[in-house]
Amino acid sequence: MAHAQEATTFNENESKVNWHDKALWFVRQKRDKAAFNVKGWETLRDLASAIKANVMSNLDIYLEEFEANAIKNGVTVHWAKDAEEHNKIVHGILQKTNVKKIVKSKSMLTEECHLNPYLEANGIEVIDTDLGERIVQLAEEPPSHIVLPAIHKTKEEVDELFQEHLGTKPCNGDPQYLTDEARKHLRNKFLKADAAVTGVNFAIAETGGIVVCTNEGNADMGAHLAKVHIACMGMEKLIPQEKHLGVFLRLLARSATGQPITTYSSHFNKPAPGTEMHIVIVDNGRTEQLSREDFRASLHCIRCGACMNTCPIYRRSGGHSYNATIPGPIGSILSPGKDLTKHSDLPFASTLCGSCSDVCPVKINIHEQLYKWRQIITKDVPQPIVKKSVLKVTGNVLANSKMYDFVGKSSRFMLKHTPRFLVYSKLNTWGKERELPEVKNGNFDEWYKKRKKNE
Ligand code: SF4
Repeated sequence: MAHAQEATTFNENESKVNWHDKALWFVRQKRDKAAFNVKGWETLRDLASAIKANVMSNLDIYLEEFEANAIKNGVTVHWAKDAEEHNKIVHGILQKTNVKKIVKSKSMLTEECHLNPYLEANGIEVIDTDLGERIVQLAEEPPSHIVLPAIHKTKEEVDELFQEHLGTKPCNGDPQYLTDEARKHLRNKFLKADAAVTGVNFAIAETGGIVVCTNEGNADMGAHLAKVHIACMGMEKLIPQEKHLGVFLRLLARSATGQPITTYSSHFNKPAPGTEMHIVIVDNGRTEQLSREDFRASLHCIRCGACMNTCPIYRRSGGHSYNATIPGPIGSILSPGKDLTKHSDLPFASTLCGSCSDVCPVKINIHEQLYKWRQIITKDVPQPIVKKSVLKVTGNVLANSKMYDFVGKSSRFMLKHTPRFLVYSKLNTWGKERELPEVKNGNFDEWYKKRKKNE
């Protein structure tokens, strides 16, 4: 139950949890406003979902088309079956081009492959240039959110971190000062880097080009200044044609932060004269996920983070509690596909309210997939004996209406007459963080019959 324990630790600082909850809800509300202002928003979501379904059904064809067109453009294309191969390929390119310093823009794939520690262990300096990513890199922490990597940190904490690592002056968490200092620090790193690593938001099969979306322009700055650009992409990032980009760009930033579009939507098609451009296409478990019919749609994800911002569990447990590269609802359906035993608690870290599916721009049925994983996990992963026994008894009670009435009556009686310290004992994990609902006289059935009689 790692998630529950990590969430308990996160909840020890109540004011910070409340702040985290509010900050993400604010982003969710911005998303709503932006979405409601677009006529045909639902049509766009349907279209995006259909395009991605088409890509997944014809992935082999689109991948080969993309590769052929990228090669025509002068790009070197590499294929990696897993994280290890990905890291070796990137390192190999850097060795060949004699690179010792790289700048990296935000890429969840390189997080997934643990590229930073791999390269650092091989003597290469890696600087994350997205501000949030740089903050968590300095703090030696993984990102806690896929779009807002440092959302778990207050500006005062960033102030302290910058004083320690960048030698800044204390500023009471003044965001303007902190951003200016980060800018100066990063500019220096950009100028000295020999290579730039970026992620890929969309790879267009028709043209062989890639699109990287940022708000800080750091992907462009890195790729344009360095002599080598390495773009790392999961193989599901494809879209068939350039015209489809309009659908996804309209959805992505609105869903992520409520902006109409990211500040930069940078198109990279070919290397500039005198430079090299490489694209590393990574599988790392994606083919296996594609083969699972019930979970295939999880590969439609465009990493907007909206499902995290809306999720009541994520907002109050924090991204690190998931112990996975991708946290939140989408992470909870992707991670069990990678390691079912390790991540078997994640599909249970949900109320199954369905809010994640409601906001998902590509209409992934996230809550239904969470429920499907639960069914698999309950069957295939050994469950704690207490949980197993309780579920068995509950199942029997729910399957028998007389038994259900009897247990209901007895529980209401006991809850009313048992001393509080016994009701809220250690055994009652539900009551640890909240009050149980007020016990009514009688159940719904009795109330309904009485009402009918009085009509
Ligand atoms: S699952 Fe949907 S809502 Fe969640 S990050 Fe992916 S695209 Fe966004």
